[in-house]
Amino acid sequence: MPIINWSYNRSRFINTTLIWHNKLVDIAPRDFIKEINKTTGLFTWTKQKRIQNLLTKQLAHPEKYTWKQLWSNLKTNGTTTSFKESKNRSFRIKLLHDELPTLDRLTIRMPYLYSGNNSCRTCTKEPETRSHLLTCIELEHLNAQAWTTTMEKLRKRTLNLINTDKRINKAHNDTNKKANNQNDHNSIDALINYLTKTIFYKQENRLDFVLGLIQEDFVIKLRDFLGKGRTSSTRAHSLLCKTSVTFQKNFQKITWNTRCNITVETDKILGISSKIKRSPGQAHKGNGKKIQRKTRSPNKKSKPNAEQIKDDPKIKEILYNFIERGTKWLGLR
Ligand SMILES: [Zn+2]
Repeated sequence: MPIINWSYNRSRFINTTLIWHNKLVDIAPRDFIKEINKTTGLFTWTKQKRIQNLLTKQLAHPEKYTWKQLWSNLKTNGTTTSFKESKNRSFRIKLLHDELPTLDRLTIRMPYLYSGNNSCRTCTKEPETRSHLLTCIELEHLNAQAWTTTMEKLRKRTLNLINTDKRINKAHNDTNKKANNQNDHNSIDALINYLTKTIFYKQENRLDFVLGLIQEDFVIKLRDFLGKGRTSSTRAHSLLCKTSVTFQKNFQKITWNTRCNITVETDKILGISSKIKRSPGQAHKGNGKKIQRKTRSPNKKSKPNAEQIKDDPKIKEILYNFIERGTKWLGLR
């Protein structure tokens, strides 16, 4: 057998170090460059006027929120695609960016059909906006139904968790089983009451929750409920994320779909057919008016320059924090 000689390993000697804006980067360059790209991309997104308006409070105090669910709502789940999944995803993206065809948005998109005609079709009191759909008095029974269904699902999931724990620990015996189960139900009731009071009954929290923005306070509350163990935090987090997704789905299925059916019916009465919506010329046939479509002039770019973004002091601060402490901005993974 010949003797194998390992060749001299030169990679031990690092002759150069990466410096970024006078800051020594002592982490893998590959990871760092990935982080730069992610952060600049995300920063460009948050710089948009609409995101600044929609998420003012959240961007001012990003540490109060768990951002993971919001990002995963925008991603496709796994590698499989289906018509249903793509429809749900499109709903989630439109909901977050306030691009659902609510009447306030339609007034901007099709002023010749909807201007002066954008009040909520069910209460007829206020303009129909994204947040109005979650707070409209006439739709409240539907939202409440969506919430109750969501809470029932949460109850099942929490009970499953508790029971799995018990099976693992074998801490219970048969004589106490009944009493234990009753206790579990009572404490889950208390938890559901707390979530209903703090999320469902508070307007802005209700909107955040349906978007997938979960406050750290709620995670902590649920973690304390699940026990002090190390896994509790992760579990509480994943349980709340699942609950938020369920609520969003129920909102889409119950409130949004009902609202759409009502709108289609009233549009019919008002003479706004889907044919007119598709071809704007139809709406003005006969009255001689010409439709002026707003086109954006190519000179007026609303998109910020990539170089400007990269030199923004805020980005530097975010990336310095990442180099020094490994903290990630807005929890993006
Ligand atoms: Zn209304």
